[in-house]
Amino acid sequence: MTKQVLHQFTTDIVIGLEVHAQLNTNTKLFCGCATSSASGKEEPNTRTCEVCLGHPGSKPVLNKRALEFGMRLCLALDCYIAPTILFSRKSYFYPDMAKNYQITQYEVPLGNSGKLRLSSGKEVGIERVHIEEDPAALVHPAGMQESKYVLVDYNRSGNPLCEVVTKPEMTSADEARDFMKQLVTILEYLNVFDVNKCTLRADANVSVKESGYTRVEIKNINGFKEIEKAILYEVERQKRDVKEGKKIVMETVAWDSDKGMTLRLRSKETEEDYGYIIDPNLVKTEISKDMIMHAKMNMPELPQEKAKRYVAEFKIDKDDAVIISNDLNVAVLFEKVASEINPVAASKWFRKELLRVLNLNKLDATHLLIDERHIIDLLKLVEEGKISDRVSQRLLERIILEPAMPSEIVKKENLEKVQDKSQLEKICEDVIKTHASVAKEFAAGKGEALNYLIGKVMRATAGKADAKEVKYMIRKLVK
Ligand SMILES: [Zn+2]
Repeated sequence: MTKQVLHQFTTDIVIGLEVHAQLNTNTKLFCGCATSSASGKEEPNTRTCEVCLGHPGSKPVLNKRALEFGMRLCLALDCYIAPTILFSRKSYFYPDMAKNYQITQYEVPLGNSGKLRLSSGKEVGIERVHIEEDPAALVHPAGMQESKYVLVDYNRSGNPLCEVVTKPEMTSADEARDFMKQLVTILEYLNVFDVNKCTLRADANVSVKESGYTRVEIKNINGFKEIEKAILYEVERQKRDVKEGKKIVMETVAWDSDKGMTLRLRSKETEEDYGYIIDPNLVKTEISKDMIMHAKMNMPELPQEKAKRYVAEFKIDKDDAVIISNDLNVAVLFEKVASEINPVAASKWFRKELLRVLNLNKLDATHLLIDERHIIDLLKLVEEGKISDRVSQRLLERIILEPAMPSEIVKKENLEKVQDKSQLEKICEDVIKTHASVAKEFAAGKGEALNYLIGKVMRATAGKADAKEVKYMIRKLVK
């Protein structure tokens, strides 16, 4: 939660984010309940105890692991870490919070004054990083607007969250999305967040020049893919309202991802409205220099450092290094492959081929069925000139869905490159003869005609010819 600070804005759009990432601990922030069910299936309101249900007389105890995870994030975001931390009660009446207050940090956050670098190189200031408990989940059975009643599931209540509050320094939906993406990458590198298990929600403060930068807060945006949509919608809405003579007021709206629109919730409350008081049940926790030193020593190599090392160590292109290190799983795989395959060739292939095929199949590198052995095997075939680029592309598309050793498929299905030059020349001659008019067009200087002929030869060889060689031969033969 951020206090409203008056800035002298000049850009068209001003965006600040409050991102809530669930820390991947085994137990909740202040009690021993598990943060998720082992089987993945569970009944609502079964993973609870007197603490996370807020029974009178129950006492919270801080989860040390959550604090350590929070410190790691603070260090990764270059934050100053508070020497003493305490927790406060944020009072509000709502069914998602049985105690009628949420335990959070207000007066002194765990970390402050940090920064995060976007992929463009722009740095976004981090106002604060703090730890708090997650409220329960509210379930609208028939959708947000249509439901006649709301169900409450306290299984989520008390899960540990880390809230990252940025300065209002982003100027487009694209930058907000990139911020979320970079933050998730860092969280994964730090091993404090599991993208498949942990929740990631954001509130976005959005204002536009046309309204004099009146701030509207969008609540409950799930994940980084939705953030761009929600902000784009809200910016358009605000601009349209101003144009139609409506006044933009400070308010809180909710993002309805099913409908792809924001809905008005309430006029914006200020932080003071929550009547924060220090929670007397939680003792002050000192963060000693030793604790910070220990956390620093255990910090992993972060994505931007990794990219720098790749450039220095493997001599690969900077852009390739950045893209590969942006996904920890891809980076780990790349390093294994680069130990056996020329790193420059491997990096180009990772960026161009592996990421293309992952995108094509809407897969991410977390659950790859193939591993470094399959990729090394495939790239060796390419390196040794045994298969054409086209065959290698097709093999990857196949093994990513059904893992198998590429060299075995090549052997079994006779996919080796056409090595016999006279055989290839014969095929080229046949194609030229069959498509004599096209060959004439090429001779007359029509460039596309050459591509057509190459395509025919590639088809005749089932993609097993070297396209460069075919090009050379056709040029030679059509003269
Ligand atoms: Zn509990």
